[in-house]
Amino acid sequence: MGLGSPDPGVNPLAAAPMPVLTELLGGPLLAGLPPVTRAGLVYRPLDATLGVEGLPQSATGQTTLLTGVNGAALMHRHYGPWPGPTLKRVLEEETLFHQAQRLGGARLANAYPDDYFRAMEGRRYRPNAPVVAARSAAVELRDLEAYRRDEGVAVDLTGERFVRMRPDLAPQGPRDAARVLARLTAGASLTFFDVWLTDVFGHAQDGAEAVALLARLDALLGSLLELGAGESFTLLLTSDHGNLEDLSGRGHTENRVPLLVLGPGASEFLEARSLLDVAPGVRRFWGDATGA
Ligand SMILES: [Zn+2]
Repeated sequence: MGLGSPDPGVNPLAAAPMPVLTELLGGPLLAGLPPVTRAGLVYRPLDATLGVEGLPQSATGQTTLLTGVNGAALMHRHYGPWPGPTLKRVLEEETLFHQAQRLGGARLANAYPDDYFRAMEGRRYRPNAPVVAARSAAVELRDLEAYRRDEGVAVDLTGERFVRMRPDLAPQGPRDAARVLARLTAGASLTFFDVWLTDVFGHAQDGAEAVALLARLDALLGSLLELGAGESFTLLLTSDHGNLEDLSGRGHTENRVPLLVLGPGASEFLEARSLLDVAPGVRRFWGDATGA
């Protein structure tokens, strides 16, 4: 999701109740919001175009976020949603997941349903960039049994889809999801939560679903703050490209995207201007934290 207009008719970020984020940032998450710099809190709008013509896409943007390598420059275009051979090579070599595994461990917090694992066996299986990176770094993909044990997060922040698939599972609201995420951060250097549904609702131009999801994301953020985000762990929120913030079209946008960093690592992102600056900032933080 990107930073868009204040018109609630096209931008769900202008329509959704997001009291936690709005109070943190001093205003709603829109294009006009100025950078924020406070102790333990940095907010910057980031350029997602990577110096390449055309609309930003997921595979190149996510590869850039996870590696610091300009995926769009490498491909000579924006490419997505799934990484092909060129981007996979970069993602299988060295990403934040690989580096975190060598430090205190990496987690991909999302839980994936049974049909996802069945699809993995097939020839048509196309993993996204975080999954390619995680698997290459020997990070476990969480299934519905992990979800049942409160060790995996449902991307919808309700668990409704999982409960429909398996009625014996319990729903998982934003507060439950925050508890799972906060617990996963203990003993790990990186806990990654891939909120891919924002892109789905953007393509579907589904304002009602978008507003509801954004309200749950705000509640998740509020619960994470209560559970130590910004103190016992650094929380970084960003996006690979715009889409959801402009429902007047079905596609991605060239809008800038938010970078919010809360906690001890925030000061590493004071100079962040583009997607390229995210991975280096995380690495500097890890370097500081380990004395490397
Ligand atoms: Zn998309």
